[in-house]
Amino acid sequence: MFQITICHLYPELLNLYGDTGNITALVKRCQWRNIQANVVKYNVGDHIKFTDIDIFFIGGGADSEQGIASSDMNKIKPYLQQAVEECKALLAICGGYQLLGKFYHTRQGPIEGLGILDLHTESGEKRLVGNIVVKMTAEKPYFLVGFENHTGRTFLHGLKPLGYVVSGYGNNGIDKTEGIRYKNVFGTYLHGPILPKNPVLCDELIRIALKNKYGVEILSELDDSIEEMARRHILKSQHILS
Ligand code: GLN
Repeated sequence: MFQITICHLYPELLNLYGDTGNITALVKRCQWRNIQANVVKYNVGDHIKFTDIDIFFIGGGADSEQGIASSDMNKIKPYLQQAVEECKALLAICGGYQLLGKFYHTRQGPIEGLGILDLHTESGEKRLVGNIVVKMTAEKPYFLVGFENHTGRTFLHGLKPLGYVVSGYGNNGIDKTEGIRYKNVFGTYLHGPILPKNPVLCDELIRIALKNKYGVEILSELDDSIEEMARRHILKSQHILS
């Protein structure tokens, strides 16, 4: 039986708008395929064996909570950096995504990021809130659907976005980019939670984990008809599908 380990980073601090649903989706879609998925939580001050982790997940949070997480992050930085360079899967949402960059300038002052990704974030005047649709820049075109709510504007310094905004704001509300894709790191502003709403992305993370660990790339098909109905409904309401 295949077995993978998922690490939920800072669940006590960074966990907004149903972000934990991403862990549930990963675990369920593994179980439905007879893959054992273990979940390990890492909170401030914990000690875990980072080399055992196959998929990392970090959710969103308020600026104050991001500040607390940031003060612990120097401790885990070398392990995460190594995992990223070894092409481990990492999904980071909103506040967690911002913290993978170099810094986040809030109105209260700067929050230091992990500096793993070449990007930075600055607070803006207006909150960027609402439903969002993003066309993913993958080989097969796929529309990601989700919900965003952030003050921070993220600017990529030459790295590839995860996709382009079809409706909503994305990274900064200006350049139409959304999120980031670097090696097997997926950074995004999409809460929702993103994985139950977009099973293709959920499976991509599981596929990466199985490929890294077992050299297996093909996942068995699941019945996603209900998920697809929900996605079609959202895409229709945004006038992307007729
Ligand atoms: N505090 C950050 C911002 O407002 C992130 C918010 C979030 O994770 N939704 O930009």
